[in-house]
Amino acid sequence: MLPAPFLATSLIQTGRLPWLLLSLLILIFSLVIGIHSYLRTRREQSASSVIPELPQDRRDEYLKQALWASGEHFWDYDLVHRRLHRMHAGERPRSGAITVLEDEQDLPPIHEQDLPLVMERLRAHLQGDTPVFASEHRMRLGQDPTWVWIRARGRVVEHGADGSPVRLAGVARDVTNSRRAAYEHRIASEVMRSMGEAVAVLDWEFNFVTVNPSFTRITGYSEAEVRGQPVTVIGSPQNAEDLRARIQLPLTRDGRWSGDVWNARKDGDEVLCRIDANEVLDADGERHLYVLIFNDITDQKRAEQELRYLANYDTLTGLPNRALLSERLSRAVVRARREGGRVAVLFVDLDRFKDINDSLGHATGDRILRAAAARVQQAVGAQHTVARLSGDEFTVIVEGIASHQQAEAVGARVIEAFHAPLAFGERLEMAVSPSIGISLYPDHAQVPSDLLKHADTAMYQAKAAGRHTYQLYSVAMDEKTKHRAILASGLRRALEREELYLVYQPRMGLASQQIVGAEALLRWESREFGSVAPSEFIPLAEETGLILEIGTWTLRQACQTLVDWHAQGRSDLSVSVNVSALQLQRGDLSRVLETVIAETGVDPRRLELELTESTIMANPAKNADTLRACRQLGVALAIDDFGTGYSSLSYLKRLPLTTLKIDQEFVRDLTHNADDQALTQIIINMSRSLGLNVVAEGVEHAGQLALLQANGCDEVQGHYISRALPGPECLAFILEYSPGTGHGALPLTPPARTLS
Ligand code: C2E
Ligand code: MG
Ligand code: MG
Repeated sequence: MLPAPFLATSLIQTGRLPWLLLSLLILIFSLVIGIHSYLRTRREQSASSVIPELPQDRRDEYLKQALWASGEHFWDYDLVHRRLHRMHAGERPRSGAITVLEDEQDLPPIHEQDLPLVMERLRAHLQGDTPVFASEHRMRLGQDPTWVWIRARGRVVEHGADGSPVRLAGVARDVTNSRRAAYEHRIASEVMRSMGEAVAVLDWEFNFVTVNPSFTRITGYSEAEVRGQPVTVIGSPQNAEDLRARIQLPLTRDGRWSGDVWNARKDGDEVLCRIDANEVLDADGERHLYVLIFNDITDQKRAEQELRYLANYDTLTGLPNRALLSERLSRAVVRARREGGRVAVLFVDLDRFKDINDSLGHATGDRILRAAAARVQQAVGAQHTVARLSGDEFTVIVEGIASHQQAEAVGARVIEAFHAPLAFGERLEMAVSPSIGISLYPDHAQVPSDLLKHADTAMYQAKAAGRHTYQLYSVAMDEKTKHRAILASGLRRALEREELYLVYQPRMGLASQQIVGAEALLRWESREFGSVAPSEFIPLAEETGLILEIGTWTLRQACQTLVDWHAQGRSDLSVSVNVSALQLQRGDLSRVLETVIAETGVDPRRLELELTESTIMANPAKNADTLRACRQLGVALAIDDFGTGYSSLSYLKRLPLTTLKIDQEFVRDLTHNADDQALTQIIINMSRSLGLNVVAEGVEHAGQLALLQANGCDEVQGHYISRALPGPECLAFILEYSPGTGHGALPLTPPARTLS
C-alpha cells in the first residue's frame, strides 16, 4: 500500500483529487445521518420497550373497564343525519363480566325549559366560541316518561369537506340522584338556617360539626367557636359532664333522646333547653352523626314556675294557699294513718281584723296580715305548715303530736306570741289578737275537709268565748254553730218583724240624788227563740253587719223616747245609746246622727253616745275625727266599760269625751277587793282631772254606792237603782223616783268607810 502523503501527491498530480474530496464529504455526511437515525431508532425502541405494545383485545378490555368504572355513557352524534350513537359499559347479570352496550337512535327529547340553553351552548361550541360543549339538562330516555337529569360533555370530532362540523362526541352521565341530593341538601341547610330552634350536628365523638344561626342566638357561640369542640362546652359549669352522660348513652343505645338541660351561654347566663336528639348516618352511611335540636324554654319554665307558685302560694304573705294546704294536710293524714299518729289543725282568725282593714285601709291591713303571718309561723316553728286561707284566716298543720294537750299547747303558744303588738312599719305597731280553733285527726275527723270544718267551728267558739283564746273542737260545738247560723237568719228578720225593742236603765246623779237620765239597751224577743240575750245577738249583729241597720234604728228609737220624755215635762233627762265599732268605723256616724236629730227633733245636748275603748282604739286617728264631728252636733260622748281595754289615758285626753263609765267588773268587788278599790279611785280622780263626768255601772248594793259616792263618783247605774225598763215604765219610775225608792234601798247617810 502507498503511504498517504505519496498517495495525495499522486492524485493531485493526476487531477482526480477534487472528485475524491467531494466523494469523501458525501460519505461522512451519510455516515452522520445514518448514526443519527440509528440512535433515534434505538431511542424510540428503548422508550417503547417500557410499556410494551398491548394486544388489541387487552386494550379493548381496559377501555371497557374504564368506561364501566367512570359510570359515564359515551355518545357520538351525527350532526348531518341527526342520529345518536350511544355506548356504555354494564355488567352481565350472572357472570358479572363487563360488557359494552350500544344503541343508535334519534336524539331523545330535551325538556322544553332546558332546550334553549342547550341549543345556545351547542351553537357556541359549533361556531368555535367554546372549546368544549358542556351542559346539564333534563332528557327523557327510552320509553320512560320521567325526566332524567343528564350532565353531558363533548366536542366536535369531525368536520366535513367544507370545514363544517359533522360529528360531535363525548360523555354523559345521569346526575338525577346527585342533583336531588344536592337540592335536598340545599333545602335542608336553608331550613336549618331559618329554624327558630337551635340545631347542632355532632360527630360520633360528640364534637360539634355544624350549628345554625339560632344556636348562636341561644348560646352565644358562633359556629367557628364550637366546630370541633366537645358538646360539653355549652353545658353549665355544674352539669357539663352530666350533659354528655345524660345524652350520650341513651343516644348511642336508642338512637334518640329528649330532655331538659341547663346550658351556659357564652356570657355566663344559664338557659334551660329542651333538647331533642336523633342519630343519623353520615353521607356514606357509615359514621353516626347526632342532630340536636335545642328549644330555649327558660321563660316557659319560669312562667310555669310562676304559675305553680301562684297556684300554690298566697302572694301577700308567701304562705301556702288553700290548695297547697289541702295537699299537705292530705299527706299528713295519710302519714298519720300509716304510723298511727295524730295531726292537729289550728284555724287561726284575727279578731276584729275587718275593723282594722275598714278603718286603716287595705294597704295597712295587708302589712298587718304579713306581720301576723310571720308571727304565727314563728310561734309554731318553721317545720309546720302555716297556710293563709283567705282574709285574716290562717291554718296550721301540726304533725307528730301525741295528745290533744300538745295541740292545745301549740294554740297557747300562738296566743302568747300575739301578746306583743305587731310591728307593721317604721315605728308603727298594733295590738292584734287571734282566736284559734283546734281539731285533731283521728279524734275529731278522718278526712281533711272535716278537720278543717271542725277547726273552723272551734274557732267560732273561741270568738264566742270572748276572743283572744283557743278552743278544742267538741261535737257539742256543731250544735252551737248551727244554732248561731239559725239565730243570724232570725236576726235578719227581727227588725221588720218588730221583734226588737229598747229598755232604759236609769242613771242617778249622786250629788242631786235624782235620776238624770237612762241608758238605752237593746232587747230581742224572738218568735222562734224567745228572749235572746244581748251578749248573744249583739256580737252576731256585729259579725253579720246587721248592727249598722239595727244601730240606726236604736238611735232613732231612743231619740224618739227622749223627745217623749221631754214633752212630758222632764227636759232635764238625757239618754245614752251604745254604738258599735262598725258604726263608728263606717265613718258616717255623724251624718246618721244629724239625720236622726233632724227627724226626731231631739235636743242633741241631752243625747249621749257610749263607745267602748276597743271600739275607739281600732283606728284612733280616724275615729277621733268622727267623734269630733259628733261632738260638734252637741252630743255627749261616753267611754263605756272603762278599764277593760288597754287604751292610753294620754290618748283619751285628746278625744272630745264628756263621760267615763267605770266597768261593772271593778264595781262588783269594790267593797271587798282592795285592788278594785284602788283602781276605781284612780279612775275617778283621773276622770275628774280630765273634766269628765264619771259614771259607775253595775251598782247592786248600798255598799258599792256609798264607796263611789264618798270618792266623788258623779253618777251610778245598776240594779240597785233600777233594772232596765221599757220606755213608759222608765219614765214613770223616774217621775216617781225619790231617793230610796229604787229596786234597792238608798242609804240616807254616806257610809263611814271611804276609799283610800
Ligand atoms: P253595756 O253598755 O255596758 O250595758 C250595761 C249592761 O250591764 C247591760 O247589759 C245591763 O243590763 C247590765 N247591767 C246593768 N246594771 C247591772 C247590774 O247591776 N248588774 C249586772 N250584772 N248587770 C247590770 P245588757 O243589756 O245585757 O247589755 C250588754 C251589752 O250589750 C251592753 O253593755 C252593750 O255593750 C251591749 N248593748 C246593749 N244594747 C246595745 C245597743 O243598742 N247597741 C249596741 N251596740 N250595744 C248594745
Ligand atoms: Mg253601755
Ligand atoms: Mg258598760
